[in-house]
Amino acid sequence: MSDNNPTEKPTNFIRHQINEDLDSGLHSTIQTRFPPEPNGYLHIGHAKSICLNFGLVQDYKGRCNLRFDDTNPAKEDVEFIESIKNDVKWLGFEWDGEIQYSSNYFAKFYEYAIELINKELAYVCFLNAEQTREYRGTLKQAGKNSPYRNTSVAQNLELLVKMKEGKFSEGECVLRAKIDMASPFMCIRDPTLYRIRFEKHHQTGNEWRIYPMYDFAHCISDAIEGVTHSLCTLEFQDNRRLYDWILEHLEDFNKPNRPHQYEFSRLNLEYTVMSKRKLQQLVEDELVLGWNDPRLPTISGLRRRGYTPASIRDFVERIGVSKVDSMTDMKILEDAVRDDLNVVAPRTMGVIDPIKVIIENYPEKQVETLKAPIHPQNEDRGKRNIFFSQELYIDRADFKEVAPNKKFKRLAIGKEVRLRNAYVINATSFDTDFDGNVTTVYATYDADTLGKNPTDGRKVKGVIHFVEASTAFKAEFRLYDRLFTLENPGKNDHFEQLLNPKSLVVTYGVVESSMKDAKAELAYQFEREGYFCRDSEASDSLVFNKTVALRDTWGN
Ligand code: ATP
Ligand code: MG
Repeated sequence: MSDNNPTEKPTNFIRHQINEDLDSGLHSTIQTRFPPEPNGYLHIGHAKSICLNFGLVQDYKGRCNLRFDDTNPAKEDVEFIESIKNDVKWLGFEWDGEIQYSSNYFAKFYEYAIELINKELAYVCFLNAEQTREYRGTLKQAGKNSPYRNTSVAQNLELLVKMKEGKFSEGECVLRAKIDMASPFMCIRDPTLYRIRFEKHHQTGNEWRIYPMYDFAHCISDAIEGVTHSLCTLEFQDNRRLYDWILEHLEDFNKPNRPHQYEFSRLNLEYTVMSKRKLQQLVEDELVLGWNDPRLPTISGLRRRGYTPASIRDFVERIGVSKVDSMTDMKILEDAVRDDLNVVAPRTMGVIDPIKVIIENYPEKQVETLKAPIHPQNEDRGKRNIFFSQELYIDRADFKEVAPNKKFKRLAIGKEVRLRNAYVINATSFDTDFDGNVTTVYATYDADTLGKNPTDGRKVKGVIHFVEASTAFKAEFRLYDRLFTLENPGKNDHFEQLLNPKSLVVTYGVVESSMKDAKAELAYQFEREGYFCRDSEASDSLVFNKTVALRDTWGN
């Protein structure tokens, strides 16, 4: 490995390329950029790109800027700009310099278009959409030259001015590069550089009537900003020819140290959809609660669900960077958050499906304060107060009249169990409702078992969690499952019909009193239940989103 690579992170083809470019002296420092189109909220796929672009320059002490690729006024919105800035920062990254907008360069793109016309490398074409398609040919058949291909430079310059001034209607003509209608790469067959749009732009208002295409704007924006390594996903592989062609034909940029594009495989996650268009459809059709619905793979959704920035960065490390397209198992994402939360999440107790326990030999009206560790593996984090009295709640699943087998380590009639952080209890009898559901369990406690085993040597193996009744707070729990019933729903035309009807299950239970001031989005480990965080949109009541189970239950 080159001396230039200062990290112990696993290497990949992009790092190899950077090392080579630094070793050869082509670049003395590197610069990347993250170039979102502000037409939706960011998702975990974007997180891969963010971690890659910002992570590389952290390691190589380079620069990474944030550029809004806002060349399509129709689909874009300032709401998305704000959310994207927030998400990048939340992930733990800071862009270098001012935020950039492709729209800042509209005047420059226009000058470069004139340069190409002057070099007889661009022309205004009046073929309509259908004709253009016909002239383009197919993968097997070369295209035909447009009849407008040989318009004189002077005339093309005039026509471009007219396009800019709004003298033509939308779709009447476009500016095209004059490259090669017989190229095996379709994107090289005289691609469109500029099209007419009468839409108002969120940054430039009504100043422009013509808007550059992605392929024209992207490479020039990279070059203006001094980007050295322009990283994008594999579907732009062919377009690299056009990226190179444009920069090589502009005087300002035709230098060895101009930007180069490198493609990596996009992240696809099982049982969800990842394109902004599809996510938008779910939001607009109100099939989910908004862009930050905790079931969505959006960064804001994952955040609302209790994911930490560190866990997402770790996930991206785990999947690595390659050129092979694949589907990523949701388990990898869940393992990453579980591993992080296991270390950082404070512990607490909550009962998701409560039944009452009455401790018959405990003094009536007495409420005892007990201490429980905030994190059992980290004593420095201190202790919290929990309470104990005659009336408690335990989970329905933790009591059976008769233990079903020897492995059953919960409460049953005549079978002792330890209440987590408190005493050993023994069930004596129980009440049921009309339908036979248990409502109350009666029990006795052993007063000599707080923080120690029974003195007579009895072994009590089971431990269950509980919440004291008089100090408990009612809470809503939102339990999530995969959003879709199919591994790759996006392939289906009607993916929205494949939603999992059980992707959200709501239950009502109780939490210990220390949770009444729980901070939104901060995940806690509810002992034996899983990781949960308080919902950020339900600030008046206690609503907890399940982040992830304590163990892998995916696929069960
Ligand atoms: P979508 O198809 O979801 O709308 P996009 O590629 O159109 O995504 P952009 O806003 O253009 O979204 O993307 C910004 C950057 O994020 C680009 O460099 C893009 O390649 C990268 N990116 C987008 N989706 C993924 C993904 N699933 N995996 C990795 N990188 C991605
Ligand atoms: Mg896009």
